[in-house]
Amino acid sequence: MQSNITVLGAGIIGICCALELQKRGFQVTLIDRRGPGEETSYGNAGVLSYSNVTPLARPELITRAHRLLLNRDADLLLHYPHLLKLLPWLGRFALRCRRKVFLQDGQAMSALTLPSIELHRQWIAQCKAQHLLNPPGILKLYRNRQTFIRDRLERELYDLCGIKYSLLDPDQISEYEPDLHPVFVKAVMIDESLSLRNPGKLCQAYTDLFLRAGGLLQRAEIHALNWIDHRWELSGNQGRHRTDRLVVCLGAWTADIIGQLGYRNPLAIERGYHTVFAPMADKKLSRPIFDVDASYVMAPMETGLRVTTGSNLVYGEAEENPSQIARVSPGVHQAFPVDRVILHKPWMGRRPTVPDTLPLIGPAPAHENLWLAYAHSHMGLTLGPITARLIANFVTGDKQPMAVTAYAPQRYLG
Ligand SMILES: Cc1cc2nc3c(=O)[nH]c(=O)nc-3n(C[C@H](O)[C@H](O)[C@H](O)COP(=O)(O)OP(=O)(O)OC[C@H]3O[C@@H](n4cnc5c(N)ncnc54)[C@H](O)[C@@H]3O)c2cc1C
Repeated sequence: MQSNITVLGAGIIGICCALELQKRGFQVTLIDRRGPGEETSYGNAGVLSYSNVTPLARPELITRAHRLLLNRDADLLLHYPHLLKLLPWLGRFALRCRRKVFLQDGQAMSALTLPSIELHRQWIAQCKAQHLLNPPGILKLYRNRQTFIRDRLERELYDLCGIKYSLLDPDQISEYEPDLHPVFVKAVMIDESLSLRNPGKLCQAYTDLFLRAGGLLQRAEIHALNWIDHRWELSGNQGRHRTDRLVVCLGAWTADIIGQLGYRNPLAIERGYHTVFAPMADKKLSRPIFDVDASYVMAPMETGLRVTTGSNLVYGEAEENPSQIARVSPGVHQAFPVDRVILHKPWMGRRPTVPDTLPLIGPAPAHENLWLAYAHSHMGLTLGPITARLIANFVTGDKQPMAVTAYAPQRYLG
């Protein structure tokens, strides 16, 4: 008889874990209260990113701390009613805003991204989803030479990690993206990043692969986990479900469920919003751009140009506040000939983040047959397949392909 395992949460992380565990011979049940990939994994910028390995905690933030705390800059919107609850997280985050720590955490992130994108390539080919890919590359664009100079530490990190990039002047920028307005003085082109025209459809394609191979998908909202007679019992709105082994991949909601087992919540939630613009007739953006000085990413999607924002930092749940969309919109109009907004209510997603920006992947520190995979911050879409590989190796006891202590859950849950 096949060993059984349950994966809780069908965002990109849970879907990839379910697929990989199935490949290793487990009978896998994947549970979610919604359809697969309908939360954060749906509305992101769709980038499978080689270069977004930079930790959020960077030395230059200290010089901007006063502006950030006063919500002066568009890349961060602090939710003031949560400030007290966020303070311990912010304190640990501030201590990491050092060059040495930045380079160390960035290298740990890069060790995950390079193999993950390779696995994505294989899985995308396997489920014949190549039509979801844009032409390769993303462009990181600078309006201000000072910002470009400020970001040199980031390029030092790329060099350390072997991430290939080229620096472009305005003429070269327009060779890649002729319809951009000439407001940029410099760009960093990361040729090897990939991007998707519909990240939700990639989640669906991976889920279909899982279902075709005999995987089970259940829709249920789980309220509690209990360890009873050496098995996990999940209780929820569809009754009880028992399983020998359990992987929890609930993204921003993981803390609620494992909090009941005694783990304290180490997460801040960086909420992000998106809206969608129609391009002007005959105007085309081929690949995602990150407009650094104006603090948004614009990504070509099946439905139009998706514009995503920086972080609206909260602790737990709070009312939506899409004001960052209004803040970045003038920059969008300056950069590209967009027509009208075609999504009238901005979408909101939740990026659960710990102070070192690295995900938590591994066995739960104080419980048997329980594994955790969450806190993927800005990189969950990219990191799905490698997270799944590490989790499957933890479950089976197989050798890991890399050092994994940097991602161990006990660094925050221990
Ligand atoms: C604006 C924005 C842009 C981004 N851009 C990128 C990008 O370009 N590239 C990139 O790599 N990453 C990007 N990200 C990050 C990426 O989207 C996330 O890291 C990733 O989607 C996290 O996946 P997940 O599976 O951990 O969580 P989720 O996708 O949030 O999935 C969690 C699942 O748990 C389910 N769930 C929750 N509670 C329960 C319960 N009690 N019972 C049952 N089910 C439950 C939910 O329904 C959900 O399906 C972006 C994020 C945002 C917000």
